[in-house]
Amino acid sequence: MGVDNFVNWLRDAASTLHDNAAYLTELDSAIGDADHGANMDRGFQAIVAVLDESTFASADELMKKAGMTLVSKVGGASGPLYGTFFLRFGTVLAGTSSITPEVIGEAFKAGVGGILQRGKAELGDKTMYDAWAPALDAYDAAVAGGSDLAGALNAAAEAAAKGRDATVPLVARKGRASYLGERSAGHQDPGATSTTLLLESAARTLA
Ligand code: ADP
Ligand code: MG
Ligand code: MG
Repeated sequence: MGVDNFVNWLRDAASTLHDNAAYLTELDSAIGDADHGANMDRGFQAIVAVLDESTFASADELMKKAGMTLVSKVGGASGPLYGTFFLRFGTVLAGTSSITPEVIGEAFKAGVGGILQRGKAELGDKTMYDAWAPALDAYDAAVAGGSDLAGALNAAAEAAAKGRDATVPLVARKGRASYLGERSAGHQDPGATSTTLLLESAARTLA
């Protein structure tokens, strides 16, 4: 487990978000301002540009740079939220000599802690946190049950997908979708959808 795994994750995420950009934007057109796909695509293409021109000595430097790139290149809600996620993720990696499944779990937790600190979302607010929260729980349960990293990431991605699907009937209480009130119900949250794509990408590449 080293820097190459994280490079692969970021590159796979970039191509997955690019392929799903129209879909994410369509979801955001129903309850937001129709830019989530474009936002994610722009941010991750900027990360790919960084990867193409620099090499990173450590995973923590790489992840922090990815976070700063998202913060600087993506406006709106999702740029600062995902940017903070990767910054905090990198900070946890910086404090360790060997990257174990437990450390990855701590990094995910710290990253999501950053999302909560910035966005103040609670479970059921119809945001990306509704995908992250069950994913963190499933990851921890898998590791506690003896799963390896691949098993834990797969469990996290599956739980995120269920959390994403469960956002459909919810009324949004954070972000632009909350301006719609009851009319936000009946639509899948774009950010919970991109979070699930990021975790599915991690499950394909990190282990
Ligand atoms: P914007 O809404 O500024 O156009 P995006 O369309 O890129 O930004 O991202 C919208 C997504 O951001 C939403 O679908 C939701 O998942 C997430 N989001 C918005 N506000 C918050 C918040 N306060 N906490 C967590 N996630 C949020
Ligand atoms: Mg939007
Ligand atoms: Mg916007």
